[in-house]
Amino acid sequence: MLNHESLKKRIDLYAMTTFGGDFKDLLDSEKYVVLSKAMMETILPHWNQSRKNTETMKKAYYLSSEYLMGRFLTNNLIAMDTKDEVKEILKNMGVDYNQVEESEEDPALGNGGLGRLAACFLDSAATLGYPMDGYGIRYDFGLFKQKIVDGEQVEVADNWTKYGDPWGIRKISEKVRVTFKGGEIYAIPYDYPVIGYDNKLINTLRLWKAESLDEFDFRAFNDQNYDLAVKAKNDAENIAKVLYPNDSYEEGKKLRLKQQYFFVSASLQDMIRRFKSKNLDFEDFPKYHSIQLNDTHPAVAIPELMRLLTRKEDVEWDKAWRITTATFAYTNHTLLAEALEQWPERYYQELIPQVYKVILRIHQMLIDELKGKGIQDHDLNRYEIIHNGNIRMAWMSIFGSKSINGVARLHTDLLINQELNDWYRLYPEKFNNKTNGITQRRWLLQSNPELSELITELLGSEDWITDLKMLKNLESYADVPEIMERFLQIKWTKKKQLSDYILQEEGEEIDPDSLFDIQIKRLHEYKRQLLNAFHILFLYYELKENPDLKRVPRTFIFGAKAAPGYVRAKAIIRFINNIAELVNGDPAMEGKLKVVFVQNYRVSYGEKLFPAADLSEQISTAGKEASGTGNMKFMLNGAPTIGTYDGANIEIVEEAGDANNYIFGLKVEEIEKIRDSYNPEEIYQKDPKLRRVVDTLIDGTFEDKDGSYRELHNSLLYGANWHRADNYFVLKDFHEYRKAHEKADADYVDRLGWARKCWLNMSNSGKFSSDRTIEQYAQEIWDIEKI
Ligand SMILES: *Cc1c(COP(=O)(O)O)cnc(C)c1O
Repeated sequence: MLNHESLKKRIDLYAMTTFGGDFKDLLDSEKYVVLSKAMMETILPHWNQSRKNTETMKKAYYLSSEYLMGRFLTNNLIAMDTKDEVKEILKNMGVDYNQVEESEEDPALGNGGLGRLAACFLDSAATLGYPMDGYGIRYDFGLFKQKIVDGEQVEVADNWTKYGDPWGIRKISEKVRVTFKGGEIYAIPYDYPVIGYDNKLINTLRLWKAESLDEFDFRAFNDQNYDLAVKAKNDAENIAKVLYPNDSYEEGKKLRLKQQYFFVSASLQDMIRRFKSKNLDFEDFPKYHSIQLNDTHPAVAIPELMRLLTRKEDVEWDKAWRITTATFAYTNHTLLAEALEQWPERYYQELIPQVYKVILRIHQMLIDELKGKGIQDHDLNRYEIIHNGNIRMAWMSIFGSKSINGVARLHTDLLINQELNDWYRLYPEKFNNKTNGITQRRWLLQSNPELSELITELLGSEDWITDLKMLKNLESYADVPEIMERFLQIKWTKKKQLSDYILQEEGEEIDPDSLFDIQIKRLHEYKRQLLNAFHILFLYYELKENPDLKRVPRTFIFGAKAAPGYVRAKAIIRFINNIAELVNGDPAMEGKLKVVFVQNYRVSYGEKLFPAADLSEQISTAGKEASGTGNMKFMLNGAPTIGTYDGANIEIVEEAGDANNYIFGLKVEEIEKIRDSYNPEEIYQKDPKLRRVVDTLIDGTFEDKDGSYRELHNSLLYGANWHRADNYFVLKDFHEYRKAHEKADADYVDRLGWARKCWLNMSNSGKFSSDRTIEQYAQEIWDIEKI
């Protein structure tokens, strides 16, 4: 319960002292800051108490270079069960809460699924009562904001703290020094509360900002050398300046390596400092710490902990290695070979030679161990951490960790049987699966209050909010028409809300009575937005030729950012926008077909899109999407999947039933079989309708501004010097994809039959709560207990 009078007082006070005015006269963004600060005052005593309560416990530490937290305000208010009250208080002050809520910038400190997973995990750990803190980087600029101008992606800097950062507390007294060759810099912690839902536990997300030891060189300034005067400051601050906008490609940049070492070293020093205050022997370090590496970006933690223990804390090498390998666990997130992180040895030598030396010794230890196990000399190179002048971060992570996990069953199976098979044979006991999950607090309770209310009413309890498996008890309502009617009404409401928002943001009118077919995720060839685009063109020509064709009116919605240097991905964005222009501009498509590419897809846009979907597009080439989590958000909100046997789609269909989803396309084994003989040109020649849509890339249907459409066309039919023709089997899967859509179309006409499918997806989504995932990590890897 809030003290209304005192909250009001605080709001007035902060409005005055922070922005110099009356609350109701401030900008919405300023109101957001004021309200958040006022709420922080309520949070802080609980937060400090939580810290004390967990001080003596074993904790998990999540190391991640990315966190895609989404907006804080509403999430935190819901966790403290104060949202309705706050709304009411604001109303009495003449202020609309929804406007304030909408003015919060997403802290976009991540690219996509990997960063969002970290955020869902923090939420689940706190809610379940597990002490787990996150460590990462407080980038000045998060992922770029995307605008679409003339059909093309334009990147705009994301200055997310422009109006302030009310949820972050700068703890300058806990700063640490991080050493690079040529100098030291400060890492300054900013702490963000991670509030467990309705349980009083508040964990911490600690993000590090880089600052210089010397703010300003007065001598240089007096000599009128102004650039030099601030050079040290700028050099240091550049380290945490910007998030690399790359999703699953590796970026071979020295600054990126500096970022990794910067936050990892600061985090480990932080842990060691606190551990030392316990006055225990370092042998006990793993009894208090389990550190999860979110992919290999923080893998330099392994040699860094070795360095800190052996060089700073006088622990002897073998003991330090025992401690290290009992502390770390590694999550692999990808099967794309090009995304396995490697660093040129000389970067390490140049930037962090003190760590490089440690890596040499770890490398030698591995070689000795392998020889001891009877591995032949000519096989050693397969395992070498340092190989051909590169440091293989995944290999280091495997060697230095107690656990290695994939993120969906298929993904882990492929790691074990293919990608990491050499390592699996060496350490089978280290390998395990942890299928990803999402938090229902954000992705249902917060984003879809209408459906949440129905669920609570039917279950007669709110327990599903912390126990998603309870949704299973709702299955039988699938056969109760009155309930399905209400469910359909809710879906329509969410579609209407999205339509209004899209009109406001994109200037496009869409019809909530049409089928909303949605693909939202980073733009990547393996995710195959191009397949979706080709299918839309196919439909367009079908409808043009045969105006009486019976098809359900459809709205295709895309949202996707492309890495700025990824030329093909950007060409695909332009292609989709060209298609939208063609289709939406054709009066014959009125009431039949509509295509919208929404700008700047991010968590807060997702919260509006997932609940409004009728169909979830999860169409990656089999074996390429490690898990996917967008697929789970759609399922939770009651949308069937049209998708391939890939990642977690397999487990989704296993839970919700084949009949309630639309699975198509090559399976992993089939791809293996045909890979060497696959000839996309044959398919292209045999199927004139497919040929027609593929040829829109080159036949003048659309303007090929820079030759990138021609390049895409070539990549499909002839390949490129770095890959075979149609590397992702777009043409091969096209026919089955089209058939699956036809089936969905026919099914959609039966409203109650469709509602049933949607309902059965929702009621069977319990497995995909990140609460389940975190329970498994906690019990099977971290060995931590609830408070
Ligand atoms: C869930 C989510 C993702 C991951 O989507 P996938 O479809 O699994 O790739 C990416 N970005 C945002 C903003 C998300 O919320």
